[in-house]
Amino acid sequence: MRVRKSAAAPASVRDFASVHASLLDWYDEHRRDLPWRQTSDAYAIWLSEVMCQQTRIETVIPYYLRFLSEFPTVMSLAEAPLDRVLTMWSGLGYYRRARMLHGAAQQVVADHGGRFPEAPGELRKLSGVGQYTAGAIASIAYGVRASVVDGNVVRVLSRLFAIGQDMRGGAGLQQIWAIADSMVPTERPGDWNQALMELGATVCTPQSPQCGICPLQSVCEGRRRGIERDLPRLAPKAKPKRWRRVALVATDERGAVLLARRVRDGLFGGLWEPPSVDADGPEEGMPRLGAMTGLTLKKGRCAHVGSFVHILSHRRIEADVCLVKDVKRSATTQNGAKNSTEYDRFEWVDTAMLSERPMTKFARKVLNAAPIG
Ligand code: SF4
Repeated sequence: MRVRKSAAAPASVRDFASVHASLLDWYDEHRRDLPWRQTSDAYAIWLSEVMCQQTRIETVIPYYLRFLSEFPTVMSLAEAPLDRVLTMWSGLGYYRRARMLHGAAQQVVADHGGRFPEAPGELRKLSGVGQYTAGAIASIAYGVRASVVDGNVVRVLSRLFAIGQDMRGGAGLQQIWAIADSMVPTERPGDWNQALMELGATVCTPQSPQCGICPLQSVCEGRRRGIERDLPRLAPKAKPKRWRRVALVATDERGAVLLARRVRDGLFGGLWEPPSVDADGPEEGMPRLGAMTGLTLKKGRCAHVGSFVHILSHRRIEADVCLVKDVKRSATTQNGAKNSTEYDRFEWVDTAMLSERPMTKFARKVLNAAPIG
């Protein structure tokens, strides 16, 4: 296979006939037995694709199985309260995905009678469904000739065609999409897409591509030039921004814990956590927490019980945790979260019920830092 120097797409689809055969044969023999590979149900495939974005497959599998058993159809997901959906998602991270999933399920029911549309253009009108997810659902569930590009596909194609452009930039990704589009076969487009991703996940891996066992080794330009380990080229990521927080774990006379719900459209939207504020340490944070919650947080009764660092993709949260016990409930915590732009509700929750609340890992770390038992 020849690679044109500045080509947006390779020479012709005809060139790919043997590539298709080699990769699909390899896929038939070596593909991992994943639960979503045993179904052609668009709903289940969509769910697996959304869960697998930014999360490892081993982590996803139990969540996928639990989620499907709780919400076996798109209708059941659409009808579920968001709180329940977020609880089932708790621990998977990137909670925006769960909120979008819930919204898209409602769209599928309202606009398409509960059946996912087949055309990628229609799929992309659904909440949270971008080019990748639309291509995956259309090709895998319905056999539509549509491409997918994820990190694995970027790696395989940039090596296969020895493309040296920065793959964090728009132009590089556009070129990969153009190549991926031109390569999708008419027969078995869904398997082809999954085979490319599988090759990237298991053979053409980031640090140590196993070219010796790769079904594409004889046509791989990156390998021929000996530059496969230098590809894809990725400009350095921006450093996560530092974010200082002070969190309050407050218990009342009965031992119930104060939780606050984050506003729906912000970071961690719709999830519960012990309330926290921006502050450079407990001295600065406690008065703000008192003002926000209306609780009387006297110095002698509030203890600084821990600090930890929590890394998100774009932020580094440095948190201090303070604990106050046996505090008297305030009117603010009973009637809403009027003094906050980050929270829309407060609730006192029995410790036995904490696991039922949808929470982030950050919130669990805050609770674990405070001895409330
Ligand atoms: Fe990747 Fe090596 Fe296969 Fe090329 S030959 S696609 S670099 S594993």
